[in-house]
Amino acid sequence: MDDCIFCKIARGEIPARILFEDEALLCFADLNPAAPTHHLLIPKRHIASLFELGADDAPLAGRLLQKAGELARELGLAEEGARFVINAGRDGGQTVGHLHLHILGGRRLLWPPG
Ligand code: AMP
Ligand code: ZN
Repeated sequence: MDDCIFCKIARGEIPARILFEDEALLCFADLNPAAPTHHLLIPKRHIASLFELGADDAPLAGRLLQKAGELARELGLAEEGARFVINAGRDGGQTVGHLHLHILGGRRLLWPPG
């Protein structure tokens, strides 16, 4: 989408600290980290939220989840643990309308979330 901030990052129009990229996925550092390690993993294709994921997107969703674990491991989070979060819609706290998975770690995270 033209005015979507994460699409702009995926197109290289907005700078980001990119950790990983392949033809379908992109992972970059969160601009406003909520933990010592905080990255976002997105599909490059514009999908507004988890609610918009169709049955045809199941392979993409699987890759997203698998890659999240792999990247978290590479970030050194596997031993102490990590949090993988997808906010969706207003009540879910989603502020950017392009599906993204948060990878959070490096400190003991609270549960339940606020
Ligand atoms: P959410 O509240 O789940 O929609 O998360 C959106 C996340 O995107 C927040 O953690 C923001 O800090 C992050 N964010 C917003 N703009 C940028 C940007 N230009 N580069 C990196 N992260 C961003
Ligand atoms: Zn987008």
